[in-house]
Amino acid sequence: MKNCSECKGKMIEKVGKTPEGVNYNFYRCNNCGEEIVNMKQLHNVAEKYRIMRKYNVKLSKWGLSLGIRIPKELIDKYEFKDEVSIIPEKKGILVVPN
Ligand SMILES: [Zn+2]
Repeated sequence: MKNCSECKGKMIEKVGKTPEGVNYNFYRCNNCGEEIVNMKQLHNVAEKYRIMRKYNVKLSKWGLSLGIRIPKELIDKYEFKDEVSIIPEKKGILVVPN
């Protein structure tokens, strides 16, 4: 159990909602009302926002390979030209413009 840094009261974990409707956890002091978000809670809400920005695109067969169509918005944002690096990650691949 955490104690409040202001008054040493008991910090209780609560659930809040961002203006975008994303739930997040935070601690509120039962005594003075001080509210804090720890690193784990912050990472959780950041991850939810990251997933909200995802794009769903179709893959197309290209011989034994698969082609991925990159939306125009992302081409402009990341300045994709004619070559990329594909970096394997834990849950998928990262496509980075060269
Ligand atoms: Zn307090």
